[in-house]
Amino acid sequence: MTKPAKVLYAKRAMLADGWAQDVQVTIDDHGNIAHIEKNQTTPDFNAESLQGVLLPGMANCHSHAFQRAMVGLAEVRSSQGDDFWGWRDTMYRFLAAIGPQELQAIAAQLYVEMLKAGYTGVAEFHYLHHAPGGACYDDPAEMSHAIIRGATDVGIQLTLLPVLYQFSDFGSVAAGPQQQRFLHDGERFQRLLEQLAASYPNSQQLNHGMALHSLRAVDEPLLHQGVATLKGLHPNGPIHIHIAEQEKEVAACLVHSGQRPVEWLLDHCNVDEHWCLVHATHLNKRECERLAASKAVAGLCPTTEANLGDGLFPAVDFLHSGGRFALGSDSHISVSPVEELRLLEYGQRLTHKRRTLLAGEAQPSVGASLYSQALRGGAQALGIKSGTIAAGMRADFIVLDDNDPTLYGKHNDQLLDSWIFASQRPNVKDVMVAGCWKIQDGRHINEEQIQQDFFRTIDRLNNQA
Ligand SMILES: [Zn+2]
Repeated sequence: MTKPAKVLYAKRAMLADGWAQDVQVTIDDHGNIAHIEKNQTTPDFNAESLQGVLLPGMANCHSHAFQRAMVGLAEVRSSQGDDFWGWRDTMYRFLAAIGPQELQAIAAQLYVEMLKAGYTGVAEFHYLHHAPGGACYDDPAEMSHAIIRGATDVGIQLTLLPVLYQFSDFGSVAAGPQQQRFLHDGERFQRLLEQLAASYPNSQQLNHGMALHSLRAVDEPLLHQGVATLKGLHPNGPIHIHIAEQEKEVAACLVHSGQRPVEWLLDHCNVDEHWCLVHATHLNKRECERLAASKAVAGLCPTTEANLGDGLFPAVDFLHSGGRFALGSDSHISVSPVEELRLLEYGQRLTHKRRTLLAGEAQPSVGASLYSQALRGGAQALGIKSGTIAAGMRADFIVLDDNDPTLYGKHNDQLLDSWIFASQRPNVKDVMVAGCWKIQDGRHINEEQIQQDFFRTIDRLNNQA
C-alpha cells in the first residue's frame, strides 16, 4: 500500500491551469510532482492507468479526533436549553474516559474515514493533553503521540496543532474541573512544543503548528507568548484559533474588550497568511473586509456549525471581499468535503433566496469554484504545498469514479457540480498521499483491524460510562 507510484496516467485531470486530457504525472522520491505532460495519447510503458478523474485531495483544516466517538450522542432534547453550551457539557462528560490508547484507536478510524471521503490531510486542533482527572502524564506529549501514531498508521498527512488553553472565560477566569485536561501555562506549553519539535522533524507526513483555543482561553500576554514560542521553533507554522462561533462569545468579548473577537484579534496580532480563524461565523461587513485583506484563512465547518446551532457564516460578503476559506469536519458529525461545500452554498441560498451564490467572477461553476477555493485555503491552513496539481506540489490526489450514474457523461466542471450537489455516495475511488496510495478501489489496507480496535474502544467507553 505504501509502494511509491512513480508515473500516473489519467484520461482527465484537474490541473492548476485547468482541465486537461491524457495527463501523465511523474512523482519524485519525496512524494512531490516532478513534472506533468498533457495530451499524452501514448502513456509511458511504466505508467499506472487510473480508472477515473484525477483531482487534488482536500486538506481538512479543523478536527477534534476524539469527538468522532460521540457523534449522535447529543441529539436528545434535554430540560436545559439545547445549544452549543449544552453540547459542550455532553462532550466534557464523554471525554473523561479517553486516554492515549482510546484516542489513537478513535483517531485511526476517523482518519480512514477522512481518506475515503477525499481528505488527504488534516489539521488536528489537539487540546486533550492530560490524563483523565487532569494529572499530567510523565511525558507531556503522551496524547500528542497517540494522535501522531493514529495518523501515521493510516497514512493521512497531519498538521498537529497543540492547543494553548489556560482560562475558562474572558478576564482570565480560572478553568473549571472539567477543563483540567486541556490546560497549560506559557512555560509548560513551550516545553510541549519543544519536545514535539525534537521528536518529530517536519516531514511529508507531519507538519507542526499551534492553536490558541479561543480568546476566552488565553489572555493577551499568554497569546503573544504562545505565538512567540511557535515562531521560535517553526517560523512558518500555522496558527489556528476558535474565534467567533457563538453570539454569546461575541457579546462577552465586547463587554470585556469593547471589541468583537475578529476585530480585536486583527488589532492586537499580526494576523497574516499563517493564521486560520476557525468558526469566524459572526462577522460584520467591516470584519469580512479586514479578514479578507489579512490573507488569513477562515476555517469553515458548515455541518458542525449547523449541528450546534452556531449561525451562518456570511460567505457571500466574505468571498466578494476576496476572502480565503478552508473546510473542517470539526466534531465529525459529517466527514465529507462534499457535504461541507453543499451546505455552505445551500445556507447562502436559503438566506438570500437566490441560487449559485458562491460561484466566482472568473469561475461560474459553483462546484468548481468552491472546490478550488477550499483546496487552496485548506493547503494554506495546514501549511503544506498541496491543493493544486502542478510541478513542485505534493502528490496528494483523489481519483473520482466517473463511471457512476450521477457523474457519468459530465464534462469537466459539470463533474464537480454533480459530485458536490447530487452525489449520494463518496465517489472517491483511490486516494494518494505524498505519492503513496492509501485508498485503492475504496478500501484502506488496514480498515478491518482499525475498525475492530475502534469497536473495542467504544465498548470500553460504554462500559465505563
Ligand atoms: Zn473546534
